[in-house]
Amino acid sequence: MTARTLNLDDSLYQYLLDVSLRETPLLKRLRDETQALPMARWQVAPEQGQFLALLVKLIGAKRLLEVGTFTGCSALCMAAALPEDGSLICCDIPGDYNVTARRYWQEAGLSKRIDLRLAPALETLAQLDQHEPFDLVFIDADKANYPAYLEHALRLLRVGGLAVFDNTLWSGRVLEENPESEDTRAIQALNRALKDDSRVDPSLLPLGDGLTLCRKRYTRSCR
Ligand code: CA
Repeated sequence: MTARTLNLDDSLYQYLLDVSLRETPLLKRLRDETQALPMARWQVAPEQGQFLALLVKLIGAKRLLEVGTFTGCSALCMAAALPEDGSLICCDIPGDYNVTARRYWQEAGLSKRIDLRLAPALETLAQLDQHEPFDLVFIDADKANYPAYLEHALRLLRVGGLAVFDNTLWSGRVLEENPESEDTRAIQALNRALKDDSRVDPSLLPLGDGLTLCRKRYTRSCR
């Protein structure tokens, strides 16, 4: 037995998937199609998609926001977990993968719930109104803007809502001292800042490449 998080080797990771992953044939096809793309690593891990869907149900989320959608796997998982009148706004830049995402959402019967906005995410976020707050924001886009995305998420979330950041362990590169990569520096800055940020209750989970959950607290600065 160990009291610290296990380092999963291939066989234990496969076991985890075998006994806990519920993946529809449609989602599996989307994952396989995405796997053949040069940017396949942008796709969330299947157990992360399932976890996001669980979070949506756990907090009774109705309004979702996603920053970084790619071929639409995480969006599909989350949208499928919404109630009938739920909605998801997705932010991404134009690319061939938008077509893939829309094709699968259509096939899943979820197109009506998903509003994909094609523009730099900071532009889309700036246009969103904090008076129609979101229950959950999933952030999995350009890492250099993670600290800026946190500020938008806290402006746009309801109190008790969740901001979820992917790649916060960044394949271990967060351990680098004085990294050259702007992305690595931004993730390090976000991680360090969240530890002492009184606006949130944070938890960094070693799920996939690191998934950080931040629950928005009630504070004057968050209103
Ligand atoms: Ca990611």
